Amino acid sequence: MEHKLLSEHYHKPEYQSLSGYKQLGGYVVLEDVLKNKKPEEVVQMVKESGLRGRGGAGFPTGVKWSFLPKSSDSPRYLLCNADEGEPGTFKDRLIMEKAPHQLIEGMLISAYGICSHKSYIYIRGEYHNCIRIMEKAIREAYDAGYLGHPDFKHDMDIYVGAGAYICGEEMGMISSLEGKKGLPKLKPPFPAVKGYLGQPTIVNNVETLAAVISIMLGGVKKFRSIGTEKSPGTKLFSVSGCVKKPGNYEVPLGYPLMDLIHLAGDLPDGRKLKAVIPGGSSAPVLTANECQSARMDFESLADHGSMLGSGAVIVLDDSCSMVDVLSVIANFYHHESCGQCTPCREGTGWIAQIVHNILKKRGRLQDLQLIQSISNNMAGRTICALSDALALPAISFVTKFRKEFESYIRTGVPYLEQDRGA
Ligand code: SF4
Repeated sequence: MEHKLLSEHYHKPEYQSLSGYKQLGGYVVLEDVLKNKKPEEVVQMVKESGLRGRGGAGFPTGVKWSFLPKSSDSPRYLLCNADEGEPGTFKDRLIMEKAPHQLIEGMLISAYGICSHKSYIYIRGEYHNCIRIMEKAIREAYDAGYLGHPDFKHDMDIYVGAGAYICGEEMGMISSLEGKKGLPKLKPPFPAVKGYLGQPTIVNNVETLAAVISIMLGGVKKFRSIGTEKSPGTKLFSVSGCVKKPGNYEVPLGYPLMDLIHLAGDLPDGRKLKAVIPGGSSAPVLTANECQSARMDFESLADHGSMLGSGAVIVLDDSCSMVDVLSVIANFYHHESCGQCTPCREGTGWIAQIVHNILKKRGRLQDLQLIQSISNNMAGRTICALSDALALPAISFVTKFRKEFESYIRTGVPYLEQDRGA
């Protein structure tokens, strides 16, 4: 069963407009917060709710907010990460397209909590539709007085990125917003201390900011009653690949992975589950056997050697060649590496080349060991996590599906095609 804290009204076209959003209860929570809550109460509630970032890292949102300097006259910025570059992820797009005012309301409540008077929504350049819809919604929110509200002055703008994966990383995004190349930087200092234009900045994902409304509306206890103790609340999962009904599904965190696949219509008739990438292409792959006990929360997936990431669930059935899948992933990260760190710049290219060689019938059995050793030298040694985003899946692919890689190297054709006598 889906549990819709965010997406209850997403099927109603009128929810996109300010009037429709208001008719369905929109902006009531903002008005209540501005009238009845102090900013520090908002931060405390978000902290106690245990809300974790929905963009990938899963860092507790309220804790992140509390890293802002306690007393400072400097301006503070709220930056909404709507870059959504992780392959397989399309849930922030859904929020912006179906409920732009929900994002604006969540951002305004969050900005009030952290005492920020200026925010930006950093949207990836390919999301033309989202950009158009968000621009219109921001204009409506200004006209209605929600932006520039007398009780809380706040300005909001959209910044359109150029579609680089590293601009989804908070330091890369801040550099890009400042008009520089979107290059990640070493931390510390963290953005909460020194971010956009050198000022305290909070970077949160679209879904995280939208989720703040339900915490203010129902209270901490209600929010914590959904999901698991360490992963409370609901989450939008983008289910794609070999399922009959690909799409976004909102379920409580801790939901069984196999039940989520069932919600997405199960596999095509006659196909068997082979593997699932549970948290976007940077997450280590799970075998069909591991999927049976996996639950969609931060802890369960970590226990299974993978991660929740952005919540992009890519389902692979027995018609998929794992060598081809790894090749697509490796090419993507090689293309997106910014080149600042040697292990990432060289390692992503080497892995992409080795897998390409296997596909072109030039593979050697020792290449599998080589992929593992290159990956071990890439993980945890670089400025940002892009290097790990290929290293960890690569290790999982060649260890968990070794037989399939060996067979491809020996025969030059995908393992399953041979099985069927192709
Ligand atoms: Fe750039 Fe890769 Fe280093 Fe990240 S890990 S900063 S993408 S070279």
